[in-house]
Amino acid sequence: MSSTPSDSNASLIEFDKVNKWYGDGLHVLRDIELSVRGGERLVICGPSGSGKSTLLRCVNALEDYQEGRLTVAGHLLGDDLKSIEAVRRQVGMVFQQFNLFPHLTVLENLTLAPVWVAGVSPAAAREQAMAQLERVRIAEQADKYPLQLSGGQQQRVAIARALCLKPRIMLFDEPTSALDPEMVKEVLDVMVDLAGQGMTLLCVTHEMGFARAVADRIVFMDEGQVMEEGTPQDFFSSPQTERGRDFLSKLL
Ligand code: ADP
Ligand code: MG
Repeated sequence: MSSTPSDSNASLIEFDKVNKWYGDGLHVLRDIELSVRGGERLVICGPSGSGKSTLLRCVNALEDYQEGRLTVAGHLLGDDLKSIEAVRRQVGMVFQQFNLFPHLTVLENLTLAPVWVAGVSPAAAREQAMAQLERVRIAEQADKYPLQLSGGQQQRVAIARALCLKPRIMLFDEPTSALDPEMVKEVLDVMVDLAGQGMTLLCVTHEMGFARAVADRIVFMDEGQVMEEGTPQDFFSSPQTERGRDFLSKLL
């Protein structure tokens, strides 16, 4: 699958001097300038508390911001609820804690939003859900409940659930951080597949092997700022800032 022509040229996500504060005091995003083209794969890294989750959550308007402009898929995110809804329809998100509904089966988790929010017929939603479960290699678990699955399986279900809404952009916030080590690979493998299929990906992760393998660009954040951005090759072999060097030295 390739991205559409409009995707590959225009920027799909545009942060233009975005500033955000939590409450009155905490300046959590500082003059963020970041432009993401359709089909691009970004890995966002940086120390804990540097604003990575906040930046990601701004993209689907789970967080607001106070200064600057953030445009996603041509919609300026601000107070306009129509823009927020339009953006959310195009953005899928996967969290560290899988956030599946425990009282619904895997299949029901996947069909809920398509049927009740997007107005898809139940039969079509089921068919689509099964296709996405195949894609993350877990179709045989469709009738189980989330807590009957391993963490890695639950996270793959969460990815399939996001894909059912046919997003143009997928946001991953440390999708493997809550997993036992032996389950990390099965989730990363699914994400590598997605990356190969032209999906626009923004992924916060400390999995630098994954970053090297799939990222077009690494964004390194510290204290609410984008300190560096560059190819994995550039960032890993010659980080430009002292903080970037320090971060990598603790990781590797
Ligand atoms: P990261 O994902 O890089 O660890 P976050 O974006 O989660 O960073 O957090 C950045 C800073 O904002 C941290 O100091 C964190 O404690 C603070 N923070 C995050 N969420 C909230 C919130 N809802 N209210 C107040 N402060 C928050
Ligand atoms: Mg975070």
